[in-house]
Order: sequence, then structure tokens, then C-alpha cells
Amino acid sequence: MKSFDVLQSELAEGKTTCENITREYLGRIEEKRHLNALLSVFPEKALEQARAVDKKYHEGNAGALAGMVVTIKDLICMKEERVTCGSKILENFISLYDATVVQRLRSADAVIIGKNNMDEFAMGSSTENSAYGRVKLPQDEDRVPGGSSGGSAVAVCTGMSTTSLGSDTGGSIRQPAAFCGVVGLKPTYGRVSRYGLVAYASSFDSIGPLALTAKDAASVLQVIAGHDANDSTSAKVSVPDYHAQMNKEVKGLRVGIPKEYFGEALDSEIRQSVEKKIDLLRSNGAVLEEVSLPHTEYTIATYYILATAEASSNLARYDGARYGFRSAATSDLSDMYSKSRSEGFGAEVKRRIMLGTYVLSAGYYDAYYRKGQKVRRLIKEDFDHAFQSVDCLLTPTSPSTSFKAGDKMDDPLQMYLSDIYTTSVNLAGIPGISIPCGTDHQGLPIGMQILGPHFGESTILKVADFFETAS
Ligand code: GLN
Repeated sequence: MKSFDVLQSELAEGKTTCENITREYLGRIEEKRHLNALLSVFPEKALEQARAVDKKYHEGNAGALAGMVVTIKDLICMKEERVTCGSKILENFISLYDATVVQRLRSADAVIIGKNNMDEFAMGSSTENSAYGRVKLPQDEDRVPGGSSGGSAVAVCTGMSTTSLGSDTGGSIRQPAAFCGVVGLKPTYGRVSRYGLVAYASSFDSIGPLALTAKDAASVLQVIAGHDANDSTSAKVSVPDYHAQMNKEVKGLRVGIPKEYFGEALDSEIRQSVEKKIDLLRSNGAVLEEVSLPHTEYTIATYYILATAEASSNLARYDGARYGFRSAATSDLSDMYSKSRSEGFGAEVKRRIMLGTYVLSAGYYDAYYRKGQKVRRLIKEDFDHAFQSVDCLLTPTSPSTSFKAGDKMDDPLQMYLSDIYTTSVNLAGIPGISIPCGTDHQGLPIGMQILGPHFGESTILKVADFFETAS
């Protein structure tokens, strides 16, 4: 697979054109159709856009992403295209407008080629919860690619697109990146506009890139980051030059190893692979330090209380009246609501709506939702405290490598536990990147996370890039 910097130099040397590049990706999409990574493909539009970029390129005024072909997780709106969120309830729903990230990619001359399969409404860790069938792991098709951005990770790993935009509410960019052996960056909460992102849990959701390299992730982030008047939660914080931090030394960098992330839940091969990377940092002059994030044991419970509460409220809008699917045989208004929702949503989404409604209901609100908010604060303070003495943290991304399809579908708690190292990052609102870290004895990719303080994307991208060039 070719990374964006390779494609860029081939373009510059006149060896190829955007149109050719786009045709190559379309060919691979066709070849790998059985992996089920895409829910829509728009070849004509993509080729037309590619030809327009070629013209600009020859005139010398092409944008920063000329030569990049992108797929978009199917919960990000693109005008006149379907936005299904992997759900039957939005099966025929066509978006009326472009998300800000889509507009920004287009203005930078990236070619958008299709939309990725995903867990329904981004709820899941395996991309088995899609109403359009599961996505297969390319390395072993009986296994899962992680989730919920499984379609995005598979598209990047198999060359269906150069990069993809995913969303991360509790790990959905980083964990599939880890399972598929690619890079996945979850930016700081507020770093990237979410105008046009269908909401799952609004105080957690972030949009970010999946890519083959840290440099490619940096190229995408550079274009999509920054304040947007259409999203009041997007931060008015200036966007640094992320590439300025590439190809740098790590000498003197203070790196924290949170001891709670190396406990019993962790697979021993993953532990060894991450430890090797720690040694590599040390031998290159970084200063390693063990740190403690004492509230780590509460992260899964806190996340699944707060995220489901927000989801139950966000998903109330799918009532059969305003969006998408409406049940055919209904007798009155409330019957229409209840049948449309019962038939339109899948099992996991219904489970979460029930959980979330429960934790918000009178009599339980204080015990669950309010308590959850307080613990969230403590988890955030753990990170604030750690970042007083270190520049970044290093952890595994997931306690295991990819598991077999079907293995965790009957046991939601086991599925939720796959998010043990990723959800804390969303609770705290900090940025995190997952990068490849070798393979296990079955040849399955292992992922490692680098976490930074709020708006510390430059630092984590720099460390990610160091590992790519050093190893
Ligand atoms: N696996 C987590 C969940 O199911 C995270 C999902 C996400 O980040 N969208 O909630």
C-alpha cells in the first residue's frame, strides 16, 4: 500500500495522475468487496473530482491533499449521499448537506470515494453490529476488524483509500486501527468540528483520521482541525504545523507508563511488544517514568453510564416521523413510534437506549448519572496530574488482538471490556493515537497508544513518527 507522501512524490514526478490513483483504488474496492468495508462507493463523482484536481495540479494551484483518496465513516454527512450510520432506521436517508470535515477535505483537493461500514450508530467494538453485515479482518476473515470504525480501518489497510475519517467516542478509531495494523488518531475533544457528524454521545464524540503513517494522519488533521462557527463545541485554539514535528529526536522527552494499564487483563505478547517499544525510547534518550492513574478501574463503568445516557437522548429523534424508516403497519401515533423504533434499531442500540434511559430516570439519576459525572472528573484529574510530570503516556491500545467473529456477541460485558484502555481518553477529552506495534504469534497486529495533554497532538504525532522511522 502506498502512503500519501509516496503518492505525492509520484504525482510531482509526473509518474501518475489523480485520476489514475483514483482508478487504482476503485479497482481494489472491487477486488475486496467481500470484506464489506464500504456501504457506498461513488466512482463517477470521484473520477470527476480527480480530473478537476489534475487540472488544478497542472495549473500549479492544487490543494494540500491532492493525490489523496479518502473514505468516510457512514455517520458523517455528504450532500446527496446516503448516511446510514450502519442502521436500518436510516437506510434510505440522504444527507442534505456536507459536514465541515468533508468540505475541508474537498477544498484541500482530497478525492472522496465512498463511505465506510460501521457498528450501528458507532456502538460496538467489532463492526458486527452493522445492519448491513459484519466487516471482515483482511488478515483472517473469520475475525473482526475492531470497531466501530472497522470499515475505515479495513479500507486503509487494504488500499481501498489512502486515509479514512472515523469517529471515536470510546476508542472507535484507535481500537480498529490496532486490530488492522494501521494508524488511528483521536484528536482532543473540540479540535475538529463535528458539524455534520451524527451524534452518539455528544460530550465524547471526536472525528479523526485512520492512515498508514503518522505523517499521513498529520496531513489530514492539518486540514480538518480548527474552529468552525457551525459547531459551538469546536475550540478557538490555533492549529500548529503538525509536520514541523516530524523526523525529530525523542531525546529528553518525558514519557509516562501508567502502571494500571499493564495489569492482568493484558495479553502477555502485547505486554512484551509494548515493552520493546519502551526500551527503544529509552535507548534513544527519552526519560521513562512509571505513573499512576488511580481511577482507571472505574473507566468502563463510567463510560458506559454516561455514553448510554447521552445516546438515549440523542437517539430519541429517530421516531419514524422525521428520519428514515417508518414501520408499515401502525394503528396510531404511539404505535408508529414504538414499532418504527423496535423494527428500525438493532439489538445493541436498543440495549443502550434502555440502559441510558434507566440511568437518567428519576430515582436513579443521582446514583448513576450524577455519580458518573463526578467520577469522570476524577479520571480527568488523574491525567492532568500525570501530564504535570510527563509529556506523553504510552499504553497498549487493546488488551487483546482481534477476536473471532461471534465470540463476544452474546456477552456484551466482554465486548465492553475490549475498551478498557481507550475509553478513559474520551472521558478526559485528551488526544490519543494508536500505532502498529508488531504482531502476535498468529500474525495478528498489535496496537500501542500514545496519549497527550489537551491539544498535544503535535507531541503524540512526533512520537508516533519516531517509531515508524526508528523501527
Ligand atoms: N466500543 C465503544 C462503544 O461501543 C466505543 C465506540 C466508539 O468510540 N464509537 O461505545
